[in-house]
Parts: sequence; C-alpha cells; structure tokens
Amino acid sequence: MSAVTVNGGISFWHADQGSGEPREPLPGDASADVCVVGGGYTGLWTAYYLKKAAPYLRIIVLEQRFCGFGASGRNGGWLYNGVAGRERYAKLHGKEAAIRLQRAMNATVDEVVKVAAEEGVDAGIHQGGVLEVAYTPAQLMRLKAFHEAELGYGQSDRELYGAAETARRIRVAGAVGSTWTPHGARLHPVKLLRGLAAAVEALGVVVHEATPVTEIRPKHAVTPYGTVRAPYVLRCTEGFTASLKGERRTWLPMNSSLIATPVLPPEVWEEIGWQGREALGDLAHAYLYAQRTPDDRIALGGRGVPYRYGSRTDTAGRTPATTVEALRALLVRLFPVLEGTEVAHAWSGVLGVPRDWCATVTLDRSTGLGWAGGYAGSGVATANLAARTLRDLVQQDAGQGTATELTALPWAGHRVRKWEPEPLRWLGVRSLHAAYRAADRRELARPDATTPWLARAADRVSGRG
Ligand SMILES: Cc1cc2nc3c(=O)[nH]c(=O)nc-3n(C[C@H](O)[C@H](O)[C@H](O)COP(=O)(O)OP(=O)(O)OC[C@H]3O[C@@H](n4cnc5c(N)ncnc54)[C@H](O)[C@@H]3O)c2cc1C
Repeated sequence: MSAVTVNGGISFWHADQGSGEPREPLPGDASADVCVVGGGYTGLWTAYYLKKAAPYLRIIVLEQRFCGFGASGRNGGWLYNGVAGRERYAKLHGKEAAIRLQRAMNATVDEVVKVAAEEGVDAGIHQGGVLEVAYTPAQLMRLKAFHEAELGYGQSDRELYGAAETARRIRVAGAVGSTWTPHGARLHPVKLLRGLAAAVEALGVVVHEATPVTEIRPKHAVTPYGTVRAPYVLRCTEGFTASLKGERRTWLPMNSSLIATPVLPPEVWEEIGWQGREALGDLAHAYLYAQRTPDDRIALGGRGVPYRYGSRTDTAGRTPATTVEALRALLVRLFPVLEGTEVAHAWSGVLGVPRDWCATVTLDRSTGLGWAGGYAGSGVATANLAARTLRDLVQQDAGQGTATELTALPWAGHRVRKWEPEPLRWLGVRSLHAAYRAADRRELARPDATTPWLARAADRVSGRG
C-alpha cells in the first residue's frame, strides 16, 4: 500500500463530503409511535415512507454513531435490481412469486431515482445499467447460465454481449463476454444518504445520533441515555445486528473492501471507455463490483478478509494492506493502463448475511417488533423496497391500511435458522472463502470451461447456490 493511500476514515464517500453536522443524542426517556433503530438506508427510508403516508406519526430514529456510519455510507454505489435469496424464494413459494419480487426490485431502482429527484437530492445518479463481464471460459459458461436465468425471471430487456460488444462499452482486459441489464445505476452513497436524512428531518422525523441501542424488546428501545417507548420498534441494523442482545447469530457480519483511484485524466478514459457509466461486475466466485464515480475515479470492491472471529465489526473501515494490494492488482489486471496508479483511498464495511442468504422484511404482529435486512451485499436498492414494505406492514397492523402487493411478496415474514456458534462460524466462512479464491485462481490458470467442484461444493454448503 502506498504512503498516499488514505486507509479507513470510514470511506472515500464520507471523506469526499466532509463530516456532516452532528445530531443531538437522545436527551432522556421518550415516547413515539414508531422507533427506528439504525440510521442507514433501511432505517431512513422506513422513516421517510411512514411519515409520508401518515404525517401525524411521531417517529424517532436512533443511530449509534452518525447516519451512514454503516454499509450505507461505505458501499460500492451500485443501485441495482439484485435481491439476495430469489432462487430460494422461488423454491419455497413458486417461481411466479419470485418473479413478482424481481419485478418489484426492477421498479425499486426507478423509485430511488424518482424520489431522489423529487426531494432535490443530488446523489450523482447515472442510470447506465449493470454490465457483468466474464474473462475465463468457466466464467463465460456461468455468465450465459446467469443470463438465461435472469430472462426466466422476466428480464427480457437484458442483453448478452460478445467480446467486441463488451469492449464497445468498457475495455476490460481479456473480457470474452458480458451481460447487461438496464435496471441499475451508479450513485454516490453518502450523497444519497445525507440527502435522505435531510428529507426525513424536513418531514418532521426526529433523528438522534451518538445513541447506541443496547437492547430491543417489545415496545422498548433501551439506550444509555434513556428508553424510547413505542408500539413499533423497527430494527434496521443489518451488518451490526450481531452486537444486539439476543441477535449474535442472526445475521453474519461479512466484510467487504473497496479502493478508489485518484481522479483519472481524459486520456485514461479514452483507453478504458466506460462512457455509459455502467455499474461493472464480474462472474468470479469472489466477485468484484466497480463504478466510474461522479468525479471520474474508479471505485472497485471485492475480496478481502471476509469475517472476523466472534462476529466483530470494524470501527472506521481500516483495511489490511494485503487486501488493498489484492484489489489494486485486480484493478490493474482489468485495466492495464492503470499500472503505476496509486490507490487514493481504501476502506471496508460490513453487510448482513443470513444463514440461508435470503433477504427478509418482517413485522411480528404479536410484539410490534420489526426488522429488515440480510441483503447479503445487494442492499442499496433492496433497503428501499424493504422500507416501503415495513411501512405497509406497520400500517396494516395499526389498522390504517390493508395487505398490499408489497406485503404479499415472498420475502415478507421469512424466518431463518441462526448461524452456528463459534468456532464453527469462523471456520466455515473462512474455508468457504478460501475455496472460492482457490476456484478463481484455478479458472485463471487453467482455461477449461468448468466451474471447479470446490466452488460448487462451497455454494451448496453455504446455501448460496
Ligand atoms: C463495502 C460494502 C460495499 C457494498 N456495495 C454495495 C453495492 O454496491 N450495492 C448494493 O446494493 N449493496 C452494497 N452493499 C450492501 C449495502 O450497502 C447494504 O446492504 C445497505 O447499505 C444496508 O443498509 P442498512 O440501512 O440496512 O444497514 P447499514 O447501512 O449498515 O445501517 C445500519 C445502521 O445502524 C446503526 N446501528 C447498528 N447497531 C446499532 C445500535 N445498536 N443502535 C443504534 N444504531 C445502530 C449503524 O451504525 C448503521 O448506521 C455493500 C456493503 C458493503 C459493506
């Protein structure tokens, strides 16, 4: 890692925007109609839609540090229509139900773009779709299967490209094909987050920062400064959920890391292309995600230390030098013109992974406790759909609404078993990731068109396949 690299500092996105005005902690005991725990996309969108639907509701958001401290202020800025667990939902509830979920996700990308515009939030959104590339025969085989599967979920507007068409969009070294969907956009995560927080406050929602919730129980959110009593307490803590009492094994906090380059000059962009500002991914087992940022850098994320023993989370996004170097090497492999380019910023964050890799949104009507998350790395758009669903569930329970298209989606009310206790959890996740990395290395070294058995076995064991 170079001396010029900023490591941690929460994320490049936060550094780019400077620290925001801090909000007051909870001053003491309080009561509300709805208490939202967590100031990320899920919590803020939930507060937004509830307040819009019922302006008389008293809503309090409690955030342990500051809004956007979590994945919502650190992600890769892919606003896209992927939702974790779709195949499993198809198995559990039938393909038609999973197609409804997919359609709702497609519409969610447009919804975020629309509301950002309506609220005057300049989030650096560019709706250029998502391009996922293959650069080994095994990846190409998976890419074609993935493309076919997506068509089967009603995505008839998806396109399959060969090497030349791929290069016309983005010149990724060695790319042999790609698949493109229009249902995606790149954005600046913190600009969206801060704009959303401001919109929520303008509606009259009260947001308290520096207020950690130590315990959630029916009708109570307990903090060191006082307790908020509310008929509905909604847990929107995704990758941090394990730190809450009773939730240690609910969702595994999985790490993901990113690097950002300096602003790249026009001659480099001439080499690379990427005029369409597509969100860029690949079909590796330890897959990457990248974007051309609003200010013309490349931000690229992917492999890193996947999990910390005991479900620990980091504090400020500091990233091991080996991870930074691995991401830099990957960047240069994709874009050889960047050989010699320094990494300007490196950071990491945690996302929440359920044991069955299925995102969920639930309101327990007997306790008034609700939660949404487990997005397993595709939460930028999904959090918005989850929030609108939580709104409908709360309104239905409060007698202010009825069942809706959203409450009938197959992920609503889904329950999953907990993760294994340590050390099994740590050993399992580390071994799975080692298997994926070994499979990627083998595919690069031996260009035969099969996915190594190790990766297929890892998919089955992890519940990801
Ligand atoms: C590095 C990285 C890259 C990613 N890239 C993408 C991407 O490009 N596209 C995509 O779709 N998804 C991506 N994701 C996933 C996506 O960012 C998340 O799924 C999404 O932001 C989750 O939003 P959230 O509000 O549920 O959780 P978070 O954003 O994590 O917010 C939870 C909030 O709750 C607060 N909190 C936690 N515990 C407590 C407590 N006890 N009391 C009070 N507050 C608490 C936290 O401080 C945090 O602010 C990425 C995730 C990471 C980590």
